[in-house]
Amino acid sequence: MSTTSTNKALARVLKSPGGHWVGDGFPVRSLFNYMEHAQELSPFLLLDYGGPAEFPPTDERLGVGPHPHRGFETVTIVFAGEVEHRDSSGAGGRIGPGDVQWMTAGRGVVHEEFHGRDFAKRGGAFEMAQLWVNLPRKDKLTTPRYQEIQGAQIGSVARSGARVRVIAGELDGVRGPALTFSPLNVWDIRVERAGPLELPSPSGHTAALVVLAGELQVGGAKVNEAQVARFERGGDGVRVEASAGAHLLFLGGEPLDEPVVGRGPFVMNTESEIWQAIADFQAGRMGRLD
Ligand code: MN
Repeated sequence: MSTTSTNKALARVLKSPGGHWVGDGFPVRSLFNYMEHAQELSPFLLLDYGGPAEFPPTDERLGVGPHPHRGFETVTIVFAGEVEHRDSSGAGGRIGPGDVQWMTAGRGVVHEEFHGRDFAKRGGAFEMAQLWVNLPRKDKLTTPRYQEIQGAQIGSVARSGARVRVIAGELDGVRGPALTFSPLNVWDIRVERAGPLELPSPSGHTAALVVLAGELQVGGAKVNEAQVARFERGGDGVRVEASAGAHLLFLGGEPLDEPVVGRGPFVMNTESEIWQAIADFQAGRMGRLD
């Protein structure tokens, strides 16, 4: 079945440094971040895995209030619960299980991120991931864009014992709905039967498997929950053994291989662009939320 001829070797396993809270709504583990991993995982900058956690019913707004971003995209994938977003470009929405919000900060937005109001009142299981995708230098100051992608728009593919939802990129002729600025693949994978899982990834591309639940065996190495298997760029696919019930994200793409200088919510190419971002935000040039 597979057309893979040379598998990418495992480069290393990234281990989660432990958890922290984003605002009062998002208990996350940062599985990688741009301070340490921007070059090896280019074009991906950061992944926060939120939950799984149980929230009691509340009338409070749980989450994080207005804050800016510039120079990249935030991709929020909800697995359980609801996330509400509102930004200074006028975009906003509420997404639930299976849905994805792909927000291009570009030249700058101010946004807020909260639990959905109805979900907060009900309470219950909450689980999500937020991925930061870098923009090529030429697109860092692009016009902000908000793509709300409903779960029903996301096609899926059966591979060995797994179901692969194609959020971005293409697999076995199924194209993901997300528009991206560089060639990349973001796939949400549920493993039903334990066994080998093979995925294509062009030679030269970054490739990583994020383990949200369950475990992988790659060569002789074991990759546990909240860890990331990062592969070498050479070779045209990855092959792992996945446990039954494993929940994975595959991240692949053409590396940008440009300088990454980041500070908090801004990720640019140079130090002076960071100072410009801070000045623009402070002067209100990224807009405001009323
Ligand atoms: Mn944000």
